[in-house]
Amino acid sequence: MSKEEIYTIPIIDAFKTDCECPFCHLYESLEKDSIDFVLGPSYMDVDIRHHTNASGFCANHYAKLFNEKNRLGMALILETHMKKVRQDLEAAVMKPYKSKSFHIGKRTVLSPVKDFTEKMVHQCYICDRVEDFLDHYLDTFFYLWKKDTSFRDLFMVSKGFCIRHFGHLYDRGEYVLKDKDFQAFKTNLIAIQQSNFDRVIGDLEWFISKFDYRYEKEPWKQSKDAVSRSIQKISDFKP
Ligand SMILES: [Zn+2]
Ligand SMILES: [Zn+2]
Repeated sequence: MSKEEIYTIPIIDAFKTDCECPFCHLYESLEKDSIDFVLGPSYMDVDIRHHTNASGFCANHYAKLFNEKNRLGMALILETHMKKVRQDLEAAVMKPYKSKSFHIGKRTVLSPVKDFTEKMVHQCYICDRVEDFLDHYLDTFFYLWKKDTSFRDLFMVSKGFCIRHFGHLYDRGEYVLKDKDFQAFKTNLIAIQQSNFDRVIGDLEWFISKFDYRYEKEPWKQSKDAVSRSIQKISDFKP
């Protein structure tokens, strides 16, 4: 089985799922899987611990890990991570400032300490793990798009994507497809995205109308969750 084929089943399932973005749907299950992975026996694995010690997690994923209520697991992960951070901070403090540490007009000193703290705030083992899988899914998407006409049909009737994953598809398509194929893909992708923006905007309009007494007795149609679906469409955050 080729590398692409291993990823085809989840991606086809995601495109068969009724949602505002199949890649957000994949993200959600990858994220859940990664949280379970981190708090499962993996934290006893020296290799994994080496990675979590170095990266730590972003605030969003600390919150999600904390919610899992595996306090001992978290304590073990945090203990060695904090020791590593303490040690790396010591090294950052000793480093000389970068030579190009000023911007024109405004003195913005880029110290190694600031670099280090920025890195610590943004680095995340779970984000990296999920993005790594999603990257394979993007390649698989184009593998399917090229060879499987029934997948193309699924793509054509999909509800489009969140703006972030729309961007990823556009970008990767330009990179992996031949120019002629990219032009065809791009035309379809944009048409799907815009018509589904129209659909969600229509739901929002109807949702707003429902607060007008003249429409009070009308049915909600598809608009009850219009606000949360709109937020997902324009941000990739699913409330
Ligand atoms: Zn998305
Ligand atoms: Zn994260």
